[in-house]
Amino acid sequence: MEVKFNLSAFVRSSISTLKPYSSARDEFDSDDMSAILLDANENAFSTGLNRYPDPHQRVLKDKLAEIKQIPTENILLGNGSDEVLDLLFRAFCEPAKSSIITLIPTYGMYDVLSQINAVENIEVPLSSSFQVDVDIILSAVNFTTKMLFICSPNNPSGNTFSEKSVTRLLKEFKGLVIIDEAYIDFSDKESWLKRLGEFPNLVITQTMSKAWGMAGIRLGFCFASPQIISILKKIKPPYNVNELTQKYALKQLNNVVDVQHKIRLLKEYRRLLITALNKIDSVDFIYPSETNFLLARFKDAQRMYDVLRKAGIVVRNRSSLKGCENCLRITVGAKEENEQLIKIIRTVNV
Ligand code: PMP
Repeated sequence: MEVKFNLSAFVRSSISTLKPYSSARDEFDSDDMSAILLDANENAFSTGLNRYPDPHQRVLKDKLAEIKQIPTENILLGNGSDEVLDLLFRAFCEPAKSSIITLIPTYGMYDVLSQINAVENIEVPLSSSFQVDVDIILSAVNFTTKMLFICSPNNPSGNTFSEKSVTRLLKEFKGLVIIDEAYIDFSDKESWLKRLGEFPNLVITQTMSKAWGMAGIRLGFCFASPQIISILKKIKPPYNVNELTQKYALKQLNNVVDVQHKIRLLKEYRRLLITALNKIDSVDFIYPSETNFLLARFKDAQRMYDVLRKAGIVVRNRSSLKGCENCLRITVGAKEENEQLIKIIRTVNV
């Protein structure tokens, strides 16, 4: 069954008629390095950073396209994937009219962005083992629903969702399906990127903050049809990815072998951490993880949190989230950090 999707029906009305701001470097996009640039009111004295960055991030996108095996017209870059998520709300939801669906517990920014954009967030709980029930999700949809957020691997539960369920959602959900793959490089499952061409309503987000080890530069990736990308491009701030970010990102994208080595190490540390934690009485359960963190259920999560904090170790108490009662979310650290963590956890009797 071919997925039919009328994108124009989903674009915020003020955006479909919007004539985007045209920056100086949009109007003059030449590689002529000898040109005298008096078009952008930059400072003529060189600091190494006195020029605006490429608003289209062409060199960076070419490299990413090569790595991801996807045309550049399918790529949008953002100031972190958080910016990409915000652009999606602003492009495809009408304030005070539209709704989205999120599958809880999940990444907190979807809800925050829905509130910022005055969009109703219809929360559908995952099962007790954090799996999706496609029928329940589809029955939550109403005529105002524009986007469905699937965080896979999911933060904070750490698992991916079955390919069969997600495929059904892509085919049967009538709006945009955003698959947030911030942690995909720590999973043995394949990215949905390979199937992008099959689904005109699919948007995939990824980030350099996790497996690429570059949270400090703030660079997020968005992969979608050229039609969706061109709408997002219309509303992104002209120079949303700064010069330093473009430079450092490119350097790291040329470091694939080292990055893959570090991913393998973190996966091994994850395995060691799970083995050690499972032997400790105060640990009730470690949820399976396809990420660089573990969701761990303790007999008394607040007590454990306090003990760790006192010992100078900061983890995230996720106990207030639905389905995460008495759970701490623990990032897989460096080897010695994990050993220190285990040492402190062992000191707590229950
Ligand atoms: N998605 C998920 C699931 C995340 O956990 C995070 C960050 N913790 C993000 C997106 C945002 O990442 P970025 O640093 O690219 O804004």
